[in-house]
Amino acid sequence: MAIEERHSVLHSWSVQADWRAPTVVGGRGARLLLADGGSILDMSSLAECSNLGHQHPRLIEAIRAQAERLCYVSNAWGAQPRAELASMLLERSGFEGGRVFFTLGGADANENAVKIARQASRKPRGAVIARDRSYHGATHLAMALSGDSRTQQQVDAAAFNVQHVPPPYAYRCPFGSANADECGERGAHAVAERIDALGADAVAAVLMEPNAGTNGIVAPDSYWPALRRVTAERGVYLVADEVMSAFGRCGEWFAWQRHGDDARPDMMTLAKGLTGAAVPLGAVVIAQHVAARIEHEMLYTGLTYCGHPLACAAGVAALQAYAEEGLIERSRRLGAQLFADAQRLQSRHPVIGDVRGGHGLFVVLELVQDAPADSGSTHAPLAPWPQTPPALKALVDDAMAAGVSFATRGNLLLLAPPLVIEERELADAIALLDTLLARHFAPSP
Ligand code: PLP
Repeated sequence: MAIEERHSVLHSWSVQADWRAPTVVGGRGARLLLADGGSILDMSSLAECSNLGHQHPRLIEAIRAQAERLCYVSNAWGAQPRAELASMLLERSGFEGGRVFFTLGGADANENAVKIARQASRKPRGAVIARDRSYHGATHLAMALSGDSRTQQQVDAAAFNVQHVPPPYAYRCPFGSANADECGERGAHAVAERIDALGADAVAAVLMEPNAGTNGIVAPDSYWPALRRVTAERGVYLVADEVMSAFGRCGEWFAWQRHGDDARPDMMTLAKGLTGAAVPLGAVVIAQHVAARIEHEMLYTGLTYCGHPLACAAGVAALQAYAEEGLIERSRRLGAQLFADAQRLQSRHPVIGDVRGGHGLFVVLELVQDAPADSGSTHAPLAPWPQTPPALKALVDDAMAAGVSFATRGNLLLLAPPLVIEERELADAIALLDTLLARHFAPSP
């Protein structure tokens, strides 16, 4: 009989007393297999990380083969899969001549990016500019970087010399622009103004997600190229947090690539899809001009398991799978289809105020109180951010009972299935969502 973990494990991002979840014993493609014999269609890639689906045979084989050769050697020694993965990442991203620092996940990738930016810029305690309503991880500096009112109560961002600027949230543009691209430009301008106010000599880095935001904000197309320009003009490093957005999630290997080579950041952080989540691994990919500045200096960082051979072997296999199975293109194609499906849902359900994303398999539905597209309403959020409205919780519970798991953030529904999801499965999930939106959000008579 399966052992119950509800009373023995502390579960992350949960109220312990409320935690209830089925036990997963296996997986296949976009499905999770449950202890009771049932299965769940995973419409969020768990934490937007299982881009290759569950139990991808290539990953299992790579981990098994590496375990037979060598399970562990520390970062102080060389290891073949680590070297191989680093060169694949540098080549894929066009960061040739640069370096890769491997970490255990996304939060410590961001922490190390900040350390490296401060060291390389010769601003050892320089400020870092991040965005409101962003998420960069749950270790202390990563929490300080995250613009989340709940976690900002627990860390003092100022103590970490982190500052936040408003996000390019076009649907409720904090700069008052009605036009999305203008909102993006204004967002980049807000960063420029903050750098100028602090003095460029006092700012070590700007750290932001290039396109799709973990907290459901999708930056207008104008944003990232403008951010690249304002940081380059001021000699401030630009760090792209690609922990969630890379490896096909936004229809490219790395989300910034949609804007062309000129939009390349000085560093980017990776995790999640890097190994298809089969084994924990993160990375900081560092451009040559940054790496050159620390080449002859001591690097005071690193954890026992960084660059773990088993994880790097999984990373190599994951990158091969994305390339050889055409999954980046598949995500782009299915993402466009999912976006169109979500827009159709919007035309039928006034509770959907905005649909965004869709460059790859990442689509956000924002739920509002009363917003037919042309109503001119204030599209008031269904619940104050970051609360999840009870009706949305009930919808998610009903979906789970029907065998589909959807992720929410506040009043947002996130659609981010594994890139291997079958078209039939995607259609079934949308049909279920249609039924449940009608059940839980019937327009008032
Ligand atoms: N950055 C972004 C954009 C993320 O979405 C996440 C995780 O959700 C992180 C950083 C933190 O990654 P990890 O949970 O691997 O520490």
